[in-house]
Amino acid sequence: MDFQNTTRQPRSWGRYPKVRHSRVQSIYWRSELPDLGQLEETALPYAYGRSYGDSCLNAGGISLDVSHLQRFISFDEETGLLRCESGVSLAEILDVMVPRGWFLPVSPGTRFVSVGGAIANDIHGKNHHRAGTFGCHVTRFELLRSSGERLICSPEQNSEFFHATIGGLGLTGLILWAEFRLKPIVNPYIDMDHVRFASLDEFFAISAESDADYEYTMSWVDILIGGENLCRGIFMRGNHNRSRQLAEKPVKKRLPLAVPIDFPPFVLNSLIVKAFNELYYHAQVPKRVHKVVSYDPFFYPLDSIHNWNRMYGKRGFLQYQFVLPFEDGHGAMREILGRIRRSGEGSFLTVLKEFGDIQSPGMLSFPRPGLTLALDFAYSGPKTLRLLDELDRIVLQSGGAVYPAKDARMSAESFQNFFPRWEEFSAYVDPKFSSSFWRRVTDSVSVENEKSQELVNTL
Ligand SMILES: Cc1cc2nc3c(=O)[nH]c(=O)nc-3n(C[C@H](O)[C@H](O)[C@H](O)COP(=O)(O)OP(=O)(O)OC[C@H]3O[C@@H](n4cnc5c(N)ncnc54)[C@H](O)[C@@H]3O)c2cc1C
Repeated sequence: MDFQNTTRQPRSWGRYPKVRHSRVQSIYWRSELPDLGQLEETALPYAYGRSYGDSCLNAGGISLDVSHLQRFISFDEETGLLRCESGVSLAEILDVMVPRGWFLPVSPGTRFVSVGGAIANDIHGKNHHRAGTFGCHVTRFELLRSSGERLICSPEQNSEFFHATIGGLGLTGLILWAEFRLKPIVNPYIDMDHVRFASLDEFFAISAESDADYEYTMSWVDILIGGENLCRGIFMRGNHNRSRQLAEKPVKKRLPLAVPIDFPPFVLNSLIVKAFNELYYHAQVPKRVHKVVSYDPFFYPLDSIHNWNRMYGKRGFLQYQFVLPFEDGHGAMREILGRIRRSGEGSFLTVLKEFGDIQSPGMLSFPRPGLTLALDFAYSGPKTLRLLDELDRIVLQSGGAVYPAKDARMSAESFQNFFPRWEEFSAYVDPKFSSSFWRRVTDSVSVENEKSQELVNTL
């Protein structure tokens, strides 16, 4: 049997929008593949739903659950080349590979992401300025098309599908397995620095001084302070530790906490966010703190709280991540932060980073040189959507872009301006594949679909 029906309704991490799929079909074996051409509705691969908005959802259509494609296929100890099925998670790779002295080339802020998802969103990490995106390290993969064709894609072979599928939002077909390069490490520990900064200018200065010496950089920021300084925060930077002795020291496993219920909406209001920011900023007394920590809390602090997305309550939340080119970054950032402060919507978790100039390989890859900021907003109805539309306009004017993996609402016009290669990309979209995101940003949402989506959101 190729497929099995399951009842689990796929959700995205932000839990907005909530949509209904006609059904979920699980794929278990690479050797017994379904005839996608026979599907009566459109389909979209779905792995762990760590995308925040609707790029992993296909309202009214079929969700192809690929999370069972979990087999490691081969590993070359000389070159670090790993080949595995697309549903293998980064967490599983780390569990197996870190004790053998290998690490992911690029990692996002959670390890509960699949290899297929990492390719389809061409994800970035704290080392973007050094390593570029995940796709930069992919050497090849196999793509199943609804025609039944199985394409081996690499920079040399079927290269147009290679560049369309990296960052291709799951729309070009089903990635069955992928091969990519891991990087050698001496031990599982990170030499980490936390440096407090009191303004955006100070952030730029620390960032400039850190890029050459630190492989990983990112900052937690408080954008609610107002005034000339624009923001304050803690700059976090690190390198893999190189002590051979530490290779013998076992990593302490953190006991995960869990958010057991959906919080009521008043819990994360802007006063609470302000109070949290105040405490967090002042919790670090010296300006600079140096520590050696295991890779886990450095890369994945949020993973220690399971279901933390429930803190935003039943209505869910939207993450908004944009990049502004350096040339216009300061002015546009000032305008965006001003708008957010005036709106009274507090972002609980805000992360700032500079992207480097390593070219992303995907036609629709999001990262490009500039300043990127990611904010979380509880969904409070149309006023949240209006605010994000306003922010889109500023991002657009500055020549920047908004990240589709986090998006649930950008307009077709915005998307098409942010991603000018979208028409070229469209030629590689599989005729049987679609997503809620894709229909919205290409203006092909049917009225019925929109209505059914609105209905589900009011549930
Ligand atoms: C706490 C947190 C932190 C994050 N930090 C970052 C970050 O630092 N940087 C960053 O870039 N992103 C980040 N993300 C976003 C996340 O990395 C991406 O959304 C990622 O793609 C999710 O992978 P997934 O396996 O959950 O895939 P899903 O969300 O299930 O799907 C994502 C996309 O991949 C496609 N897809 C999945 N499997 C396949 C397959 N086998 N073949 C073809 N297409 C497939 C889907 O159709 C969909 O379009 C973060 C998310 C969370 C929740």
